[in-house]
Amino acid sequence: MERPELQEAVARQGRPLVLALLRAGLEGIRRLAREGSLDPGSLDRQIAGLASRVEEEALRRTASTIRAVINATGVVLHTNLGRAPLSEAAARRAMEVAGTYTTLEYDLPRGRRGSRSSHLDRLFALLFPGHAAHVVNNNAAAVLLALNTLAEGREVIVSRGELVEIGGSFRIPDVMRKSGAILREVGTTNRTRLEDYERAIGERTALLLKVHPSNYRIIGFTAEVPLRDLVSLARRRRLPALIDQGSGNLLDLSGYGVRNEPSVQDALLAGADLVCFSGDKALGGPQSGILVGRPALIVRARENSLARALRVDKLTYAALEATLLEFVRGAAASRVPIVRMVTLGREAIEARARRVMDAVAAHAGGVLDLAIIEGTSMLGGGAAPEEGLPTALLAVGSKRLSARAIEERLRRATPPVIARIGEGRVLLDLRAVLEQQDPAVTEALLAVAASADG
Ligand SMILES: *Cc1c(COP(=O)(O)O)cnc(C)c1O
Repeated sequence: MERPELQEAVARQGRPLVLALLRAGLEGIRRLAREGSLDPGSLDRQIAGLASRVEEEALRRTASTIRAVINATGVVLHTNLGRAPLSEAAARRAMEVAGTYTTLEYDLPRGRRGSRSSHLDRLFALLFPGHAAHVVNNNAAAVLLALNTLAEGREVIVSRGELVEIGGSFRIPDVMRKSGAILREVGTTNRTRLEDYERAIGERTALLLKVHPSNYRIIGFTAEVPLRDLVSLARRRRLPALIDQGSGNLLDLSGYGVRNEPSVQDALLAGADLVCFSGDKALGGPQSGILVGRPALIVRARENSLARALRVDKLTYAALEATLLEFVRGAAASRVPIVRMVTLGREAIEARARRVMDAVAAHAGGVLDLAIIEGTSMLGGGAAPEEGLPTALLAVGSKRLSARAIEERLRRATPPVIARIGEGRVLLDLRAVLEQQDPAVTEALLAVAASADG
């Protein structure tokens, strides 16, 4: 521990970690000695190399594993890649409140305790006039809170065609059970009619639920009850209608090739009492879940003791506030990255792909085979599963490297570039690459070419 070559590691990574690694290293050398596999010469070499091995291992163990990556997959809302990159304003606001005390639960004018859920009320009132909203951890939490608040110990009627699994651990029947509500399935997988809901309503019914099917579609011989009809049935029977909207877009994206995606406002206009959606899908904000609907129901959700367990912190409020402001100002299409990416035209993407291609070809044309080909980007995040957005892909092949090797080398670049493989080539889609990252994509491709050349 006294050796000069360990002092920097001690200063940077701390004495306890370096000491523990050193002890483990020495123990390893003792074991080799006991086994008789060390002659005096190799013992000296082991001891001499110990400090640098300890330093390397300390670095490896303390290196961050949440790293910034470049998303060249063409999947705009990639859950594995952390969903929505925040807008500049949202990232700045989160930074501003991160390292300081704030008015999170403090009423500054009155000088007394305030409420954290009040901060976004003004913005929600502008976005959803006549309605109120509440923010929780994520949309799974929003659905859980809504069901527990409105239907604990009672029945929730839902179509068999909507008993979805969103991915891994979010399955509607499981969330329903955890909420204490009793699932009452109606209809069949492919067809559910209004009469099915009507017949199931009884003494124990608490609400009617409609779930956005998110990541799949039922096609062919199908029937689904339109939202309006479901809502008017709920009205007639004096029951609330809850919609799990999933992706929860606030803008009409039909002009950009995203059809079949009703907006949150559409659901409220249709008369839904409560709508749940994610803050980090089509909204393009931080991970969060938003419940919006009748003010009296939002008050009940806020008073539920579960709300405390599902609440969000100042970073989320600050980033979400900035994101919602872009929608209030009508600036989301230019300032919220997710919305900007979805609204990008194929030509704009092709122009960027060509610039990258030309820059790479100028230096590495001999090693990499480059071409622009037609392709489709996906929205992801469980929105519009069968609809792609037309895009231009940069296809990269090489006579010296397999597609798999190119993909892996791009993934090991700094920053890592995540791409996919198709028809024996690596396919890069710049739709979800932030424009300022294009030069880094070029650099990564040049590095791949240089590694193949060497
Ligand atoms: C994505 C999604 C969820 C889960 O939302 P998270 O924010 O990931 O918790 C729930 N329901 C639907 C319909 C979804 O699309």
